[in-house]
Amino acid sequence: MGQVQGKVALVTGAAAGIGAAIATTLGREGATVVLTDLDDRRGEEVAQSIRAAGGEAVYLHQDVTDEARWAEVVGEIDRRFGRLDVLVANAGIAIIAPITEMSLADWRKQTAVNIDGVFLSVKHGIPLLRKSGEGGSIVMLSSVAGLRGSAGLAGYSATKGAVRLFSKSVALECAGARDDIRCNSVHPGIIETAIWEKMPVGAQDARRNAPIDPRAVAEASVPTGKLGTPQDVANAVLFLASDASAYITGSEIVVDAGMMAG
Ligand code: NAD
Repeated sequence: MGQVQGKVALVTGAAAGIGAAIATTLGREGATVVLTDLDDRRGEEVAQSIRAAGGEAVYLHQDVTDEARWAEVVGEIDRRFGRLDVLVANAGIAIIAPITEMSLADWRKQTAVNIDGVFLSVKHGIPLLRKSGEGGSIVMLSSVAGLRGSAGLAGYSATKGAVRLFSKSVALECAGARDDIRCNSVHPGIIETAIWEKMPVGAQDARRNAPIDPRAVAEASVPTGKLGTPQDVANAVLFLASDASAYITGSEIVVDAGMMAG
């Protein structure tokens, strides 16, 4: 028996990086996984690889900032599977710039994906999570940047701090409703994904004036000096998605090899 056998899970931003590892891990552990993303080619590939390994997976196109699409995606999951047990709000972007140089458009773009997208996932996901009457688990991807300030990443840090407290409020509302829906946040440190390469042109470390190399960041700021892998984060999400964490809600798991310990 897999750790999430029989559960239906939705993972946003599942075409790459941490989201792809989460979807693959949940699929391997017995969940039926619904993957959504903007990148249809890679999203279909990840879903296909889950099916090739014997799991169940379906990919749907979704921009998490589009509320009308949220209603359609949740409706599609209801039609196909009749329930939702796990919701992983993973899609996120990072825009790096000194505060005085950040455009309002970039600030809003980051806020739209990292906060509005998470809000919409919960607003539209909770009714279907409640439908089975068997409870459920919401996991939100925050960051170590959501636990402390971050020079050059002020906007990103603000969105991730918002996600951390939003997660706790969702946990309390669901606890108050006695619906057995739990909500927790995960805070990765420096993880090797394309998010670092995808920072917009001109998005450079203001102090070094060079593209950000996550390996160098890990060397400088992670006590072990090690870069984390998407699988390291997926393992924490699997625990929060599974019934092994049944008494954990409103909490946070930091996956950072000790970055936040000092
Ligand atoms: P990534 O860039 O590798 O993957 C993000 C995925 O989200 C991509 O497939 C992208 O297409 C998708 N996406 C972006 N905007 C979207 C939108 N509007 N709608 C739907 N999908 C969208 O990033 P990652 O490193 O895997 O990050 C995943 C999450 O983990 C993010 O929330 C990120 O902030 C968080 N995180 C990452 C790190 C890290 O070091 N990589 C550290 C802390 C937190």
